[in-house]
Amino acid sequence: MIHRALTHNEALEALRGFLKERSSYDVFPVSFRLIVLDTQLKVKKALDVMLLYGVVSAPLWNTSTAKFAGMFTVQDVIHLIQYYYHTSSWEGAAADVEQFRLHSIRDIEKALSVPPPPLLSVHPLRPLYDACRYLIRTHARRLPLIDKDTQTGGEVVISVLTQYRVLKFIAMNCRDITQYLTASVQELGIGTYVSKNDDPSNDNPYYPLATATMQTTVFDVAHMFSEQGISAVPIVDDQGKVLNLYETVDVITLVRNGAYTALDLNVSQALKQRSVDFAGVVTCSPKDSLSAIFSLIRIRRVHRLVVVAGQDDPQPGRLVGVISLSDIMRALIGHDIPLGGAGVGAKGVDKAL
Ligand code: ADP
Repeated sequence: MIHRALTHNEALEALRGFLKERSSYDVFPVSFRLIVLDTQLKVKKALDVMLLYGVVSAPLWNTSTAKFAGMFTVQDVIHLIQYYYHTSSWEGAAADVEQFRLHSIRDIEKALSVPPPPLLSVHPLRPLYDACRYLIRTHARRLPLIDKDTQTGGEVVISVLTQYRVLKFIAMNCRDITQYLTASVQELGIGTYVSKNDDPSNDNPYYPLATATMQTTVFDVAHMFSEQGISAVPIVDDQGKVLNLYETVDVITLVRNGAYTALDLNVSQALKQRSVDFAGVVTCSPKDSLSAIFSLIRIRRVHRLVVVAGQDDPQPGRLVGVISLSDIMRALIGHDIPLGGAGVGAKGVDKAL
């Protein structure tokens, strides 16, 4: 319990102290379900299972080695779509994507020159703070928790830690600390903001933000996701006003029935088919404090925030920036803290902590 007012930095230190005293186990409910996919499974089966259970990623298990084999995420499916779009016909693409087995996905990623998801994992009893340091380093944005079976010595996947779960946990349990995170998100540089573009060959008015309009095709949006390693784009009108947000999960729900031709739809048409589960676009102003962001995380299902100009701006609702959960995690944990532990150097990202 905190009894006196803290400065922003003291509050950050207090939060880090809290995370050091907890483990990943503390973040999970007493009972939960875990979907693990065999690497021999076909992509179509894997997608069906994920949609059935409402998950957007799952750890892969290699039965022949009896080992964890990386994470299968929505981003992998986006890469698959990219790859096949360029190499086959629509019909061929749909058939191939679905016949493809999960273990071959790494070959596609090599062909596309995108980095493979790291095989990073963490023991569930390690301090949550250490798990968070790993989370901000993995572009899979999720960290499998792996224990050892005491009888066989074999690996056991316990669960998967996500940025969303950690931030929700902090928002729910550390209100007495987060209330002192009073600096504004823009002041703190949390997120990616529209800024001056000095590159004459780049005519993006929202530089460096990737955006789309209602007329952009879903395929072009998927291309931005794959190429830029992002998971959402704000949808803007011709005045720069934010109308909506299109996310990687939207692409997956669109192609769930093998209707890959749906990628030819434009955003406006695709939004009509959006999952009923869509939590809505969460916005904030650049002047909002980090504390206000935690209040939003506490009460809403926040996967990212779109930063829009407030009522005091000549153009209220104008796109100003995007704040992802990884941006918030980095602000909490710090950027350049070297990873400690035996054998885990700055590049040793493929080892378990
Ligand atoms: P997360 O890292 O939480 O999964 P993203 O993959 O969307 O979320 O974001 C990765 C990084 O890219 C973040 O630093 C974020 O600020 C930035 N980013 C997010 N969306 C966009 C966008 N549309 N254009 C440019 N940068 C973005």
